[in-house]
Amino acid sequence: MKTQDYIALEEKFGAHNYHPLDVVVDKAEGVWMWDVDGKKYLDCLAAYSAVNQGHCHPRIIAKLKEQAEKVTLTSRAFRNNQLPLLCQEMCELTGYQMLLPMNSGAEAVETALKAARKWGHKVKGIAEDKGEILTCTNNFSGRTISIVSFSTEEQYKDGFGPFTPGFRNVEYGDIKALEAAITPETIAFLVEPIQGEAGIIVPPAGYLKAAYDLCKKNNVLFIADEIQSGLGRSGKLFAFEYDNIRPDVVIIGKALSGGCYPVSAVLSDKEVLGVFNPGDHGSTFGGNPLGAAIARESIKVLIEENLVQKSHDLGQYFRDELSKIPSKHVKEIRGKGLFIGVELHPEAGGARRFCEALMQRGILCKETHTHVIRFAPPLVIKKEEIDWALTHISEVLQLA
Ligand SMILES: *Cc1c(COP(=O)(O)O)cnc(C)c1O
Repeated sequence: MKTQDYIALEEKFGAHNYHPLDVVVDKAEGVWMWDVDGKKYLDCLAAYSAVNQGHCHPRIIAKLKEQAEKVTLTSRAFRNNQLPLLCQEMCELTGYQMLLPMNSGAEAVETALKAARKWGHKVKGIAEDKGEILTCTNNFSGRTISIVSFSTEEQYKDGFGPFTPGFRNVEYGDIKALEAAITPETIAFLVEPIQGEAGIIVPPAGYLKAAYDLCKKNNVLFIADEIQSGLGRSGKLFAFEYDNIRPDVVIIGKALSGGCYPVSAVLSDKEVLGVFNPGDHGSTFGGNPLGAAIARESIKVLIEENLVQKSHDLGQYFRDELSKIPSKHVKEIRGKGLFIGVELHPEAGGARRFCEALMQRGILCKETHTHVIRFAPPLVIKKEEIDWALTHISEVLQLA
């Protein structure tokens, strides 16, 4: 079967909830992907930062195979010998006291919201129907009904109501707006330290620190959604480290499994995650030994291969070189580490055509929010590979 045959099948039998580029991937290794016709591409999306360690990392795949042949799922009705080590290793790495494992990012966000609400009611003492969680404009935290309830993207909500109450949006990056929104009933503030889906939006310098200080002053939980910005993508283990803060709750997913398996988690201290009692919350697959073994190895790869620092240094280089391209289309280049957004002027006619032209030349990236091209390759990318990509990016950005 050829590319067009697969596309026709998917269009006919699959629900149309995505608009993918028409490349049908057959295999991938490191930063490279091959389609079913044998054409090779450089992956500049890294599955929305889920494959920071590179595709099919040999160490992670070896661990996957080893664990798959021993035991894959016990459910949390029984214990397994991988989850305790994942919890310990992640807590030692991050300095938090507890970890609660889930599968998808959205589930981990839901878990953090449930923990925060229960903390708000049982610890902070807010009346059960009064508490409020503040969220940010242009947020992206997943697709469940409760999460889209606080989306500011009309399409994410269209037709899916009624929505979950108890959330209120404040302007991202506007510290005055946050200050004005906090009341005695405020439970938590949920924020992406860098907004990925909104188009790699970096908030003004000092914003996260000021927001954190406001939360501390008002006994409001500061919850960082680091599902995309975390685990090395921004050039730090967590993007919030640029602001020298310590969020009360950190949500991780995506690269936690090197793209090999859905694993997500909530990190926090006993005061917050300790609100859960047996039966309060759970997931059949959450914390399963296969996922836990894969996550343990994925984090070891991230640290032992020094991918966080590589992201920091190569990201700086990539952005510097991008800014030298004489293109009339480019409005702004922004980001931290290898988490880069190139925003085009509206007159450029949208980012999609540039992504399609890059695909023709063997580079895969995806437009986000119409006018932004995101460059977020696996963190194992080499400088020579970035240079190769830059020659093509330069030509494409100078198209008419
Ligand atoms: C991808 C993402 C999520 C949702 O993760 P899923 O695994 O797709 O449910 C949540 N928050 C952020 C910031 C993300 O980028």
